[in-house]
Amino acid sequence: MPHSERRIIEQLRQLVGAPSVSSTDPHWDQGNRAVIDLLAAWLADLGFRTEIQEVSGGGAKANLIATLGSGPGGLVLAGHTDSVPFDEGRWRSDPLALTERDNRLYGLGSTDMKGFFPLALAAAASFRETPLQQPLIILATADEESSMDGARALVTAGRPKARAAIIGEPTSLVPVRMHKGIMMEALRITGRAGHSSNPELGNSALEGMHAAISELMAYREQLRERYSNELFQVAYPTLNLGCIHGGDSPNRICGRTELHFDLRMTPNGDNDTARGELEERMARIAAERDLAIELRPLIEPVAPFEEPAESRLVRIAEELTGHRAEAVAFATEAPFMHQLGMETIVMGPGCIDQAHQPDEYLALDQIRPCITLLEQCIRRYCL
Ligand SMILES: [Zn+2]
Repeated sequence: MPHSERRIIEQLRQLVGAPSVSSTDPHWDQGNRAVIDLLAAWLADLGFRTEIQEVSGGGAKANLIATLGSGPGGLVLAGHTDSVPFDEGRWRSDPLALTERDNRLYGLGSTDMKGFFPLALAAAASFRETPLQQPLIILATADEESSMDGARALVTAGRPKARAAIIGEPTSLVPVRMHKGIMMEALRITGRAGHSSNPELGNSALEGMHAAISELMAYREQLRERYSNELFQVAYPTLNLGCIHGGDSPNRICGRTELHFDLRMTPNGDNDTARGELEERMARIAAERDLAIELRPLIEPVAPFEEPAESRLVRIAEELTGHRAEAVAFATEAPFMHQLGMETIVMGPGCIDQAHQPDEYLALDQIRPCITLLEQCIRRYCL
């Protein structure tokens, strides 16, 4: 095994060994600072200027912006440093101890996406003796798997700026230029409870919910007609009725009920329009039935993402990989990179099918092609 590959595996061993779960469940949620500090030290050794942006009070959660060279253009290689919670009992080996077997590196976050960083560092190291004409920026973020607060903090700060950004989420090194957005909403309907023997004694929230659900399902059909997009495997926006709670007894009129649903919009549409239209429809039902209906977001929404097929970055990535750019079913920080004004694609080592799973792994045969591809991208944007 060549020396550079040993260093990559050793770095990944340390990154996986630094737990950095992020979760909306406080029982699971951890900081990512240990991962950020490891990366900052290694990047400083490579000559990068490193800057740590605190995302939570005290800096237990942080982003890292590491820059080599300077100038108005350049390239960002971006990844998140957090992982999802894990079910240790279902792993064959310790999820926090990188384990090599069957030409794969097993460990929590090995493919999603701590594994990207040692490869980006190896690609950067090839330019140690070459002065860059435009900056190369390695960006490491916090909380992508939960709130995307790391990416939101970058947008607020207006940094980093470059011509283009590649997010190294696992795509088997195929360029991705589109994904859907995510909204998660709670719909709460409040009526008036009363004895079931006389409907005049109350105003049923459940019957109001029946009307609301019919309206949501009709709206879903409209979204499909308006915003279908053939690049996606599921080629239209989806709206899933996830869970519902309400009522207490068969002989009482239901006074309150709440539905949680998600809406995944294609880049043909946008979250704000959908939210406005949902509110309008729910307000109509509320008025017709004299109910209180409240629609509130359960998470900060993530916008759908689309990089135009004709953008320079997409064309370069297609040329270098020999693959047409695709759409994926998972959301990323790409819409935030877009907001910062950068051409953006998602393209990284490993396969999303292994992400968020027990026995997550990065196949060793992804390492060399990924480094070569990143070196070629750096050459295009920074030399
Ligand atoms: Zn990821």
